[in-house]
Amino acid sequence: MAGKKIKTIGVLTSGGDAPGMNAAIRAVVRRALGKGLKVYGIYRGYDGLMDEDLKEMQAQDVSDIIQKGGTILYTARCAEMRTEEGQIRAAETCRKYGIEGLVVIGGDGSYRGAQCLAHQGINVIGLPGTIDLDISCTEYTIGFDTSVNTAMEAIDKVRDTSTSHERCSIIEVMGRHAGYLAMWCGIANGAEEILIPERYDYDEQKIIDNIIDSRRRGKKHHIIVNAEGVGHSASMARRIEAATGVETRATILGHMQRGGNPTAKDRVYASIMGCIAVDLLLEGKSERVVGYKNGKFQDFNIDEALAMVKGIDDYQFEVATAMSGGYTKDGAKKVLEDEEL
Ligand code: ATP
Repeated sequence: MAGKKIKTIGVLTSGGDAPGMNAAIRAVVRRALGKGLKVYGIYRGYDGLMDEDLKEMQAQDVSDIIQKGGTILYTARCAEMRTEEGQIRAAETCRKYGIEGLVVIGGDGSYRGAQCLAHQGINVIGLPGTIDLDISCTEYTIGFDTSVNTAMEAIDKVRDTSTSHERCSIIEVMGRHAGYLAMWCGIANGAEEILIPERYDYDEQKIIDNIIDSRRRGKKHHIIVNAEGVGHSASMARRIEAATGVETRATILGHMQRGGNPTAKDRVYASIMGCIAVDLLLEGKSERVVGYKNGKFQDFNIDEALAMVKGIDDYQFEVATAMSGGYTKDGAKKVLEDEEL
């Protein structure tokens, strides 16, 4: 379909919700209307294409949503989309409503679904909507900034009570298999230990020694930010308490990290990305993912984006280690011996 001027597009949110998705939906709808396109909002991700659950959107349908968390289009995980019959059915719905281009706001899995639709002749553009920052082609994903700020504020609060009771606190943050949320919280909250799946060596004895050592030096609290991908915070707390004699509690922040009003960054970047998605469709482009890399918004081929491997930024991790006084995989010891006693 490349080259043909499209007249109607659709937008959906898929996978886990993320604050800022509404700003992206709003941008897609308003940019599309501004360019003279008809635009459908598709409900509950790919489920909406299976069930023809969609609505033609007007500008007022996206009024008063830029500041809201969640997604007004709802989101879902659609097993049927993984089957060829499901993909054909989804494409048939698109054709029935004249939807020639589709903006998919979600994570890697959602792009795989989009790619399948592209193979059925629908132009698709992916926007990175996930709090996990686990999409390899981009240094920014919609929702990460809000989520990290939400978690940071919660950890500050846990820290207050942890210090008052002279406890050790293990705070588990989301991120699925990726450690970015934990690493950023660890830096932002001044955690003593930051455990992320990409780098943690599971040597708990080092953590125990560190707690005992810091207590000897008079430290009143010990904050461990643990990534979901490492997990097992409750059992870790029991073992650490038994080994150190320091009261240790686990707090799992959970889904509160997905909600809340998006930050300015998430609202603005999501708005920009939403407009870019429509512009790409108008240029006849398909199978692209919009990302933010090396200081600018760029778009990448979906296949290439999916093939890239997201690693932890080495220097950010070095900063996290240096600031936390924790231990790295290769056993490097803390550098800020006397800080925050
Ligand atoms: P998050 O990172 O928040 O979990 P995600 O987009 O990666 O977001 P998934 O559950 O992996 O979330 O994928 C969302 C939906 O995309 C799935 O429910 C399914 O409908 C579709 N999808 C995922 N993988 C494929 C695939 N290989 N082929 C076709 N469709 C897929």
